[in-house]
Amino acid sequence: MADPLVVLDGVNKHFGDLHVLKDIDLTVGRGEVVVVIGPSGSGKSTLCRTINRLETFESGTITIDGEPLPSEGKALARLRADVGMVFQSFNLFAHKSILDNVTLGPMKVRGKKKAEANKRAMELLERVGVGHQAGKYPAQLSGGQQQRVAIARSLAMDPKIMLFDEPTSALDPEMINEVLDVMTQLAQTGMTMIVVTHEMGFARRAADRVVFMSDGEIVEQATPEEFFTNPTSDRAKDFLGKIL
Ligand code: ADP
Ligand code: MG
Repeated sequence: MADPLVVLDGVNKHFGDLHVLKDIDLTVGRGEVVVVIGPSGSGKSTLCRTINRLETFESGTITIDGEPLPSEGKALARLRADVGMVFQSFNLFAHKSILDNVTLGPMKVRGKKKAEANKRAMELLERVGVGHQAGKYPAQLSGGQQQRVAIARSLAMDPKIMLFDEPTSALDPEMINEVLDVMTQLAQTGMTMIVVTHEMGFARRAADRVVFMSDGEIVEQATPEEFFTNPTSDRAKDFLGKIL
């Protein structure tokens, strides 16, 4: 790959006796959008959490932009800022305004001044379509709006890569597309993204590559076109048969 940004090489992780990541080799290029799909319990969330160092791992290496994952201290805080993560649950600070939710990280971790942080936050909130809600509190927004704020909050840190772990799974159906649209636009800006999702329409539309996981392993990876029309493994065929 011409310009790898995230490289996992032989990564193994256990929870007790459970081998959840089995010799994972995965390279994500700068600007690439990788969609990770697979059955529940296959290790998709653990993969994201391991890349963000929310989980430890026992063997193998992970590098981000050429640097090995730090395990503690300032380097770890910097890594967390470089790797944005959006979860199923929005995790906004309930007692802070939407604007404050977005400016907090840049001021604390990136050392930005308030005026500068506010300006950037407003740009991002406009971009995800909730600029007019900046003075409100999270509970006053719909789930789809809150998730778009969560995306803006991550982007405010100027991450090198964005990880999304089933960002639309907790949303009412009518709100799913407004979040996927923001993600699709983000993909078009050249952001490097790893997206765990069951939204196959998004995968077809936005992914450069689909990675299929099952039982802790990467079983197949291919372009969406190839993967959806001609999956090679029985496990992928079985999975697609159930969801499509
Ligand atoms: P997915 O996101 O693909 O549904 P997960 O990464 O959440 O899968 O989980 C992979 C496996 O690891 C599952 O069997 C799950 O029960 C187990 N697991 C996940 N987190 C923990 C944990 N903190 N402690 C013990 N087992 C866990
Ligand atoms: Mg999961």
